[in-house]
Amino acid sequence: MIIDSHCHAGKGDGLTGPWDTNAPLEKYMRRAAAAGITRTVLFAAFHSDYARANREVARIVASRPDRFYGFAFVHAERDRGRISMLMREAIEKHRFTGIKVHRYDARISREICEVARVHSVPVLYDVMGEVWTAELLANEYPDVNFIIPHLGSFADDWRAQLAFLDHLARHPNIYTDTSGVRRFDLLEQAVHRAGPHKVLFGSDGPWLHPAVELSKVRALGLAPIDEGKILSKNFLRLVSRVRFGVYGLPVRRGSPIPALRSSYDPWVERPYQP
Ligand SMILES: [Zn+2]
Repeated sequence: MIIDSHCHAGKGDGLTGPWDTNAPLEKYMRRAAAAGITRTVLFAAFHSDYARANREVARIVASRPDRFYGFAFVHAERDRGRISMLMREAIEKHRFTGIKVHRYDARISREICEVARVHSVPVLYDVMGEVWTAELLANEYPDVNFIIPHLGSFADDWRAQLAFLDHLARHPNIYTDTSGVRRFDLLEQAVHRAGPHKVLFGSDGPWLHPAVELSKVRALGLAPIDEGKILSKNFLRLVSRVRFGVYGLPVRRGSPIPALRSSYDPWVERPYQP
């Protein structure tokens, strides 16, 4: 079985590029089928309202529950105070199995990590080169699994990706995916230094071709048992403990949540002052 653990789906409501405009699956599905990819993890494109975007993904997942898994996209700042509510809907109603967070929206928050812990779901967090965040996440939330995609940098930042390998190797709860990684030697190092149990196959479809992405995993030339971990086993393990039916979570609607100091970096940024 081959599971593509990283694919976008549905419409965005921006018009900047494919990433916030549209993630149509028709071509992807044909390409994935031809490549032998039997299941795919879907999450939204960038959107100004993730509750809405997640519902669209949920409809796609529900159309082929044997074919798709869903992850809920959340915005650490805009959704502050309602992450547990969003995740409750995503997990209880839509049977989603993970959380997607992107630093382009906002840096990950404790709120997100704590909700992930309650539901025992993995968090796929694109750090956009800030790979040191893995150190904080691993130490503060050792019981939450984090997938840091693209070896830490979709922008192909060699320094960031190289530095990330240390975190990947040292922390049992830090994982990565192969999506969009161009520097093959770093991918090889990731598998050899951290182990094949720490790397997940992902394509970043529909914008990247799933067969092209899959060929990188094949090119690693691993023993079948190790390749199998990357192609499906690792993902299945990460979502095997999802807790459905978690109740009694405080759902705060509209109540002010104190600003988290972690959301900005005092050494390089000034907090927003109107
Ligand atoms: Zn992506």
